[in-house]
Amino acid sequence: MKRKPRTILATGGRDRAASFGYVNPPLVRGSTVLHDDVADLRRRVRRRNAGDDAAPRSYAIYGTPTHDALYEALNELEGGFRSWAVPSGLTACTIAILAFVRQGDHVLVPDSVYWPTRRFCRDVLPRYGVQTTFYDPRIGAEIERLFTPTTRVLFLESPGSLTFEMQDVPLLAQVARARDAFSVIDNTWATPLYFQPLRVGVDVSVHAATKYIGGHSDLLLGTITSNERAWPALREALHAFGLTASPDDCWLALRGLRTLAARLPLHRANAERLIGWLRAQPEVERVLYPALADDPGHALWRRDMSGAPGLFGVALRPEIGEAKLHALIDGLRLFGLGASWGGYESLIIPANPERTVAPPPCQGPLFRIHAGLEDADDLIADLEAGFARLRA
Ligand SMILES: *Cc1c(COP(=O)(O)O)cnc(C)c1O
Repeated sequence: MKRKPRTILATGGRDRAASFGYVNPPLVRGSTVLHDDVADLRRRVRRRNAGDDAAPRSYAIYGTPTHDALYEALNELEGGFRSWAVPSGLTACTIAILAFVRQGDHVLVPDSVYWPTRRFCRDVLPRYGVQTTFYDPRIGAEIERLFTPTTRVLFLESPGSLTFEMQDVPLLAQVARARDAFSVIDNTWATPLYFQPLRVGVDVSVHAATKYIGGHSDLLLGTITSNERAWPALREALHAFGLTASPDDCWLALRGLRTLAARLPLHRANAERLIGWLRAQPEVERVLYPALADDPGHALWRRDMSGAPGLFGVALRPEIGEAKLHALIDGLRLFGLGASWGGYESLIIPANPERTVAPPPCQGPLFRIHAGLEDADDLIADLEAGFARLRA
């Protein structure tokens, strides 16, 4: 039966018998798997090495029943063939590129990409003979011209980190497929609830489950959900590098998934209240949030995504200057000054996007807000005091 996303969030990966009748899966910690006899051991190892994901496990690096529960829920949510968890969102991004390339290959990465992903492509891939071309995230069909015969990966992130440009994901995925490359998307902002990229032709969807999936700022985890075409290369890389995540973090991520559909609308409602107030301030030039009707990415957002979370950018007028932005931020009482968004708490951080091909969509000082679950009136009062400091 094809079930709707909220039903999958509540029930995906649940197996009453395997959970001894409890609602939640057992937290299985372990390294060693014991075998019945030598023949059993050999059989398991042979099947696993032959790429049989259903083989009984011979070692915990291939996961535990706790991992399985999370993977099953993610597969069903995103329409994936296989899912896997790794120690961080960044690991998910980097391994999902590395898995597909070899010496002499080329990858395409949006200029608006999460900065540590950029650093990996810029500083590490060239050491292995892999070149990266950064492209304008709003490029659309023109991407075709940037493909070379050696392009193996088209990386996507929509909306982009810090600057929130939307990408035409179905179109880009189609071009990648036609050019025999793999498309990989960092889908962290939209979450598996609001966008399922594999359903529009993307090969691999990665998440920093650290963010909204975890939802409580208490874990670091990356997830990778793949279609059948991309999985063999991913599986080889994940197993060869020995990449897995702790069952504790998978357990927490699965618990986070259960309430994702309850939390996200509150994050967005608070974001909308804050945005309404911010846009009325004369120092604010633009709010970067594709769910806004006048955002340049709004049409793509409305076409492809079924919702928006509470993360957005705010650009001040160029004449304001960085020092005044710091005065606004320093002294905020409810907004924490920190990077890892997606938790229940509100955050603010100054943003300095690094670009090489496409200038950022604003000139003035930029900051990013994650609207938490506090009362919006209190958050606005905090910002009011911040803007008073900026004006002083
Ligand atoms: C935070 C983040 C990551 C990295 O996740 P970590 O778990 O912190 O390593 C990757 N992509 C995006 C878009 C992020 O916001």
